[in-house]
Amino acid sequence: MMQQQVTRTIYSFFGPPGSGKGTLAQKLVSRNNFQMLSTGNLCRQHVAQETAFGKMLDGYVKQGHLIPDALVTDMVIDWITTQSDKESPIILDGFPRTKGQAELFLAFVKQTPDVDFSVISFLVPDEEIVQRLSQRVVCANKACQSSFTVNDNISVCTFCGSALTKREDDKEHVIRERLLQFPLYAQTLLEYYGKVQQLVQEMDIAGLAPESVYNHFLTVMSL
Ligand SMILES: [Zn+2]
Repeated sequence: MMQQQVTRTIYSFFGPPGSGKGTLAQKLVSRNNFQMLSTGNLCRQHVAQETAFGKMLDGYVKQGHLIPDALVTDMVIDWITTQSDKESPIILDGFPRTKGQAELFLAFVKQTPDVDFSVISFLVPDEEIVQRLSQRVVCANKACQSSFTVNDNISVCTFCGSALTKREDDKEHVIRERLLQFPLYAQTLLEYYGKVQQLVQEMDIAGLAPESVYNHFLTVMSL
């Protein structure tokens, strides 16, 4: 008897911090039944719940070491393979971030026949990002961490009702420092994708409001 194969679509949203990819991902989750994974949130959850991954993470952080690509990638693969809903598309927000993570993740994709992997690269001018991030507020609930802007005029998270806070790293000088670092690893990663012929779909979203970014994404991806 033939088994019906379910293809799982995985998108890697790649772009500078504050490019609006997280906001787009949130819309796709709430309106189109997508699932989203932010590696930052996943790390914080593992540490808070003191899982085996969390203890390893904590060890590296306490010793002031970088978190190895293999550990981050293992956590992401663990998350993907333990999702019970096998049909809704997954967005990896900001993963793979390095060439090392991409190599390990593409090896997993290759071994997993029912996975369709796409990289979406978001292009936004730095000045637009600085402006956007300095207006950002995030949900204080670690399990939620939805983000909003001060222009939304809301005082609590619309998803879980928790308080909203400003992130320490959304201050302008921190944002500019992160934007300076971004091209350093982005170039290496994009060159690697080129070498292994992994298609990278570019999304030029300069000047687009979040709702237009959402519509643009659906059009580009023919969804
Ligand atoms: Zn929330």
